[in-house]
Amino acid sequence: MEEKKVGLYGGTFSPPHQGHVNAAANFVRAMDLDRLIVMPAGIPPHKVVEDPVPNEARLEMCRLAFGEIDAAEVSDFEISKDGLSYTVDTLRYLYPAYGKIYLLCGDDMLLTLDRWRESSEIFRMAHIVCMRRYDTDASKLYEKAAEYGERFSASVTFIDADPLPVSSTDVREMLKRGDGAVAGFLSDAVLRYIKEKGLYESTLEG
Ligand code: ATP
Repeated sequence: MEEKKVGLYGGTFSPPHQGHVNAAANFVRAMDLDRLIVMPAGIPPHKVVEDPVPNEARLEMCRLAFGEIDAAEVSDFEISKDGLSYTVDTLRYLYPAYGKIYLLCGDDMLLTLDRWRESSEIFRMAHIVCMRRYDTDASKLYEKAAEYGERFSASVTFIDADPLPVSSTDVREMLKRGDGAVAGFLSDAVLRYIKEKGLYESTLEG
C-alpha cells in the first residue's frame, strides 16, 4: 500500500470550470495531498438525453482543466462503468491501494452523507473534507460532523476557503447565449476545446 495522502474529487464536471479547479487546488494545499484523483461521474442513461456531451469529452476537458494542478490526475473509473456509480464502489476500488482516502464534499453533500449508499462503509474508508460552497449555517455543519463522529467514528475536516461563485449550469447558459464573459470561468484550453467540438450549443465566435 502506498504511504501517500490521496484525495478524491468527484463530480459531473460538465464542463469543469475554474470554481472546480480552485476548490481542487485548495483541497490539495489544505490537506497537503500527494495525489488528487479527479473522478468524473458516469451519467446514467436517462440523463444522456439532457446532456449530449460525450463522456470522452468530459474526461478530456477534466484533463485540460485540472492539468494545471501538479498532484491531480483524472480517472475514467466511474465513466467506464455502465450507468450510475456509487461513491462506496469507487472507494472500494481505491482503498486497497491507498488506504484511507480524503474525500472532498460540498457543504450540501455533508448534510446528506449518511443517506448515501452504504454510508458507514464510506466513513470507514474515507476521511471527509468539507468545503463551503453555499451559505449553509456553520453550526448545522459542525453538528452534523459531530453526529457522524458519534454514529460512525467518522473524521471530518473543514477547509476554510472562499468558493468562486460559478456553476456548470451558469457556464452552459453563458455558452449557449454566446456570452464572452464565460472566458473568465473556464481555462483557455477548456474553452478552446468546447469551441472546437461545438459543445453545449455554444454560440461563441472563434
Ligand atoms: P451543475 O451546475 O451542472 O449542477 P456544478 O457546477 O455544481 O454543476 P458538479 O460537477 O456538480 O458542478 O460539481 C462537482 C463538485 O464540485 C460538487 O461537490 C460541487 O459542490 C463542487 N463545486 C461546484 N462548483 C463549485 C464552486 N464554484 N466552488 C466550489 N465547489 C464547487
